[in-house]
Amino acid sequence: MATVKEQPFVLRKSAIQGTGAFATRTIRRGQRIIEYTGEHIDNDEADRRYDDEKMKRHHTFLFIVNDDEIIDGAVNGNDSRFINHSCEPNAEAVIEGKQIFIYALRTIRPGDEIAYDYQYERTDEHTDADEKFYKCLCGAPNCRGSILAPPKKKRKTSGRKRVRKTVKKTRTTNAGKKRGARDARRAR
Ligand SMILES: [Zn+2]
Repeated sequence: MATVKEQPFVLRKSAIQGTGAFATRTIRRGQRIIEYTGEHIDNDEADRRYDDEKMKRHHTFLFIVNDDEIIDGAVNGNDSRFINHSCEPNAEAVIEGKQIFIYALRTIRPGDEIAYDYQYERTDEHTDADEKFYKCLCGAPNCRGSILAPPKKKRKTSGRKRVRKTVKKTRTTNAGKKRGARDARRAR
């Protein structure tokens, strides 16, 4: 798989959220943009590190690799962790073994913000309050309003395994119900 030799983007302030990644040259469809790096941890450690109840909006750099492995981009991560979510993405995340790579879904022009669909796991227990907690500000015309994966809808597949970022945090919903890593996984 063709990998671009130097990092083809710079970080700057984004209209989507905080800091974003903006292409500095043309990235062709299918090109590998960067690896999503960070410390590999398990679910328990992720729960220890992050408490959703202390966040106004969901914001971590956690990324699920498989059932018992998560990459925490906040620890030893690279600039990939600043790539924002979009409901109309120009990139995608792909798991290859225990690594995660970001690929261009279509041609990305210099100045374009690079974004992929985080597809946070949605559980049956998600409430309207959760939708707000996972509010999306991507600005795409077809924005679904939430960075949670779309409900039940069948996703497009590219032949490669698609990956999701994680919601597997324990937090109390408005209903006062605790959800943990295992609950979040049930929807899979
Ligand atoms: Zn959106």
